[in-house]
Amino acid sequence: MCDEKELYVEETPWDKLKEECGVIGVYAPGQKDIARLVYFGLHSLQHRGQESAGIASNKNGKIQYYKEMGLVQEVFNDEIIERLQGDISIGHVRYSTTGESYVANAMPLVVYHKGGSLALAHNGNLVNAKEIRDELQDNGVIFQTSIDSEVIASLIARFSRNQCIEEAIVDTAKIIRGAYALVITFGDKLIGVRDPNGIRPLCIGKLDNGYVLASESCAFSVMGAEFVRDVEAGEMVVIENNQITSTRYDNQAKKAACTFEYVYFSRPDSVVDGKNVYLARRNAGIILAKEHPVDADLVIAVPDSGTVAAIGYSQESGIPFGEGLIKNRYVGRTFIQPDQRMRELSVKLKLNVLKENIKGKRIIMVDDSIVRGTTSGKIVNMLKEAGAKEVHIRVSSPPVMNSCYFGIDTPSSRHLIAANHTSEEIGKIVGADSLGYLSVEGLIEAIGLPEDELCAACFNGQYPMEVPKTGNKYVFEKE
Ligand code: AMP
Repeated sequence: MCDEKELYVEETPWDKLKEECGVIGVYAPGQKDIARLVYFGLHSLQHRGQESAGIASNKNGKIQYYKEMGLVQEVFNDEIIERLQGDISIGHVRYSTTGESYVANAMPLVVYHKGGSLALAHNGNLVNAKEIRDELQDNGVIFQTSIDSEVIASLIARFSRNQCIEEAIVDTAKIIRGAYALVITFGDKLIGVRDPNGIRPLCIGKLDNGYVLASESCAFSVMGAEFVRDVEAGEMVVIENNQITSTRYDNQAKKAACTFEYVYFSRPDSVVDGKNVYLARRNAGIILAKEHPVDADLVIAVPDSGTVAAIGYSQESGIPFGEGLIKNRYVGRTFIQPDQRMRELSVKLKLNVLKENIKGKRIIMVDDSIVRGTTSGKIVNMLKEAGAKEVHIRVSSPPVMNSCYFGIDTPSSRHLIAANHTSEEIGKIVGADSLGYLSVEGLIEAIGLPEDELCAACFNGQYPMEVPKTGNKYVFEKE
């Protein structure tokens, strides 16, 4: 009857769906204003996603929520926070790199099923969401968003028709593959789940009369929470009756925590899987100075992501650290559309050279990572225009050679400069006098966790699970 083509609306390919997110959950029955606590926590996680923010509060199993595009402080005001009364509250910040940026895709996701209302916040990316979604759609299930997180919510809702929520989550975890740090509220429970590889972080904090779950421990101090521990890979924690119970739902769980959290993504004041991010970055700078020494007058950082490693580099090399680039802190990612032209402009919008410190000097410029090479090229140019005699780039992570399928915004390999050029070539392309990357071994040593507990796939291609084979090909053809 209908022409199928007319009805077909093209969706973003699932292998292009890359989201960076932060999640929070607060359990504090009887305590007033817990949505405000979540709001404060979300502020501390703003670096994990600047595109949309949301909070869902649960009062006696009934869930009210508010989510909108924008930064946390743009989305919420006093009146909205006041309306979100409850005993349990969860929150989410999100940044997507696809065109799929509209409020329906913001989180928390709230779904209503036979057993009641459930709110879910997800950080990470699934690698088999498309297959599951296709199968569910073949069976008549409808979806309101284009995010993989809705697949999780849908499966939990299905499985909880005839079993308790914990069993429904465990059954869901048997089907989904990929990275997921989940915070869920249902009934009188706050639940946290970390995938069997523990790729994305999730930790537990203690309030005077309650508990907090958060992507990063940096959220705890503003919330008045004490760090308790990380949720383990393959663990589900259920908080109810003011107690935590833990279930290891996957006996095969094999930790593969994301190294890029330490390189770039997490805040330096967070402790992720027992390792402080600041110390990991400073160690990376120290090891980088040993691996790639060079004679120079001044070590500068690309602020803020390169600052800690630059301090480490200076400490080890004995070359003084100083400011060479001043960052405009008010230019957010929100206003910078992810296309190449804007990316190039954004470097100048964000950074300006402090000529007085640079002129006539041999500079070592430390950055945390080179992805496409846009930032480095622009900065070297700016430094040379300001009169730098030499610019030596030192990168406190290894060459990014492979796309991430687990929630870090890395483009397909066609756009990764290190996937297509040697370090020497990259140095020439960006106009540097020399360029040195930290080795993979150096990065692992800097973090201080056993190699077999880390995922360094973006650097070494060793993914902790099978990833979509067609992924890069499709992206390659489309981009
Ligand atoms: P590029 O210009 O593509 O080489 O990007 C490198 C710069 O982007 C570095 O200064 C990094 O600090 C920063 N960066 C690295 N990874 C990401 C990411 N996932 N999202 C946003 N910025 C990033």
